[in-house]
Amino acid sequence: MTALLEVESLVVAFDGAPVISGLSFTVPAASVTALLGANGAGKTTTLRAISGLVRASGSIRLDGESIAGQPPEAIARRGVAHVPEGRGTFLHLSVDENLRLGAWLRRDRHRVEADRERLFNHFPRLKERLSQQAGTLSGGEQQMLAIARALLLEPRLLLLDEPSFGLSPKIVLELFDVLRRIRDQDRVAMLIVEQNVGVALDLADHAHLLELGRMVRSGDAASVRDDAAVRRAYLGQ
Ligand code: ATP
Repeated sequence: MTALLEVESLVVAFDGAPVISGLSFTVPAASVTALLGANGAGKTTTLRAISGLVRASGSIRLDGESIAGQPPEAIARRGVAHVPEGRGTFLHLSVDENLRLGAWLRRDRHRVEADRERLFNHFPRLKERLSQQAGTLSGGEQQMLAIARALLLEPRLLLLDEPSFGLSPKIVLELFDVLRRIRDQDRVAMLIVEQNVGVALDLADHAHLLELGRMVRSGDAASVRDDAAVRRAYLGQ
């Protein structure tokens, strides 16, 4: 069976210096894949290459069709939504306005309204705060807003960069529960970059460990968790 996302021999270089050196991996439909690794391993760059924000060579296919080299807007139209590090919410706009921006590529206005209502089941606090300025939300609520906004694009694949960053352990667990429900109920596939390796492996179906732009471990999340080197370096065990 073809995976939803297939990345093959991906190479990214900045000023001639390779940052990603021939990366290959897949993200199956309706599943979560975690991309793990130390600072500077190239995780963010991999997400940015997939969503067309940095130039890359190699093959990137979504549902069997190449998206490599296309502009970010075209890739978003094909169903790839990116929640960047630092969330990318518009802090001076209201929650409502941020959500409306999420649906900017969609023409089916009536379905957008229905999707918003459905999303509020996952994110009830956003509904309560629709008119509030996004910058006044808590960190967890801002992350939820960023994810809700991305989901309004109706993506098949959600790219999440460090969603737990700056959040308390309790809020992180809440957020990852929501992500689990979005995968299981809405069947949205996710590629997630996380420093919080334990929580990422709890959610993920598959995991890949990157070191200096190369894949050093790959497998189902349980086997990556059991790997002695992963436990030592990332789980403190
Ligand atoms: P972190 O968790 O620190 O974000 P990461 O694994 O996501 O780590 P990247 O942000 O992808 O790593 O960075 C990989 C390497 O590429 C780093 O050495 C970084 O300095 C470099 N890099 C990233 N973006 C650029 C850029 N636009 N220009 C030059 N170098 C870059």
